[in-house]
Amino acid sequence: MADVDPAPAPLTERLSAVLGAEHVLTDPVLMEQYVVDWSRRWRGDALAVVRPGTTDEVAEVLRLCHDARVPVVPQGGNTGLVGGSVPPPQGPDAVLPVVLSTRRLDHLGEIDHLAGQVTVGAGATLGDVRRHAAAADWTYGVDLAARDSATIGGTVATNAGGIHVVAFGMTRVQVVGVEAVLPDGTVVSHLAGMLKDNTGYDLGSLLCGSEGTLGVITAVRLRLHRPVGRTTVALIGAQSYAEAIALMSTALAPGTRLVAAEVVDEQGMDLAARVNGSSWPLERRHPLVVLLEVADGGDASGLVGLDDADVVVGLDANEQARIWAFRESQGEAFSSLGVTHKLDVSVPLPALAACCDELRDIVGAIDSVDAFGVFGHLADGNIHVEMHGPEAEDLSPDLAVLECVARYGGSISAEHGVGRAKASELHLCRSAAEITAMRALKAAWDPLGLMNPGVLFETAVF
Ligand SMILES: Cc1cc2nc3c(=O)[nH]c(=O)nc-3n(C[C@H](O)[C@H](O)[C@H](O)COP(=O)(O)OP(=O)(O)OC[C@H]3O[C@@H](n4cnc5c(N)ncnc54)[C@H](O)[C@@H]3O)c2cc1C
Repeated sequence: MADVDPAPAPLTERLSAVLGAEHVLTDPVLMEQYVVDWSRRWRGDALAVVRPGTTDEVAEVLRLCHDARVPVVPQGGNTGLVGGSVPPPQGPDAVLPVVLSTRRLDHLGEIDHLAGQVTVGAGATLGDVRRHAAAADWTYGVDLAARDSATIGGTVATNAGGIHVVAFGMTRVQVVGVEAVLPDGTVVSHLAGMLKDNTGYDLGSLLCGSEGTLGVITAVRLRLHRPVGRTTVALIGAQSYAEAIALMSTALAPGTRLVAAEVVDEQGMDLAARVNGSSWPLERRHPLVVLLEVADGGDASGLVGLDDADVVVGLDANEQARIWAFRESQGEAFSSLGVTHKLDVSVPLPALAACCDELRDIVGAIDSVDAFGVFGHLADGNIHVEMHGPEAEDLSPDLAVLECVARYGGSISAEHGVGRAKASELHLCRSAAEITAMRALKAAWDPLGLMNPGVLFETAVF
């Protein structure tokens, strides 16, 4: 009798053989935290959650999923706010995707003091990398409120911004090299850290902002900076967005360096005070509050022209943390109301005040919205709009905001990415020619369309 090939083992068994059963989760209770996002607005279904611990294991997982034609959703800290880090809900006949968590790839390499660089695993948290750099008298240029959950891989995959973009730039400019696994399991690694290296396409740059659609980032070589030294943090009352923007230049003494400039509105301040258990920090109430951080040698001389202003200044770390808490807890404060629509947009600085004013009018007129905030990274022209009230699935309030931003020549995503949330609106700020070029790249890297399908491009690519 001829030998009959045995049926191949189910994918989860083959994944368990590679990773160990404890790193292949199929129990819905254990998978819950990986299939629901931070905002609780986006949730989906998965075949399994896998947790590889090395680049070789990531490569083997992708090879097995590729052979089985099973989609993969890469996930870092799951703090992304555009539905890109979790799978979408699946129909009864759909092929369920695998969520690949990078959290075990958390290696922190030795600091290279000569180059001012470090290589870290994609699953290391931003907070761990920042502490690792600080312990060696360096600083990593990117920082954001989700620092203790967001991973380096996630911040590279979304080209994260954060609170120090005005001083150090976005994530892309911190990345000197990347190691990644392509959808078929091929490893591409370029981590030598040479600043001068003009040898063709910069694959790391392409992976930056790719939102898990081209491959899985497994390690990153990062540029570090010397710390800015002691800073002054000030919270200043403002009557309008135009006044807030003007403060960024008029309040800075000559020779000082702006390290951060943020704006929070009155409702956001009240919510933050409630969440943090603090009280309104200025003498009077104002429609807006501007937070400025300047590197000035450690005294208040970095700020000028504020004699008549309602202002509170923080010089030591505790005072500064108390002031920053009002800005840093905005996301959490709005989420404390329930599921909120969180939009992240940018407009050219000359249009910022008018756009913010119009956004307030537009959002304020939406019947289903019962609370909202228009705040953000002032110096970067980056506005966050939070809306509470509309159903999670109701996309019309989001569209109203994005269309307004497009009218001002802005971007529908300043830093969070496009994800699933804005995939159908990409055309508002990228031309048909640009989208065609992006789709061609996606088709070349991921011909089977297995990497994070539905993210960035709404419809199937092919
Ligand atoms: C309170 C709060 C404050 C925030 N503030 C800011 C801010 O100031 N600036 C800002 O830019 N963002 C901010 N964010 C959003 C979020 O923290 C960033 O987008 C962050 O970069 C996501 O990192 P993550 O590890 O959580 O990625 P995830 O949420 O897990 O994933 C985000 C995207 O990256 C992909 N991805 C993740 N890891 C990899 C990998 N290793 N390889 C390939 N693809 C991968 C995922 O598929 C997904 O598309 C904030 C979020 C919260 C909750």
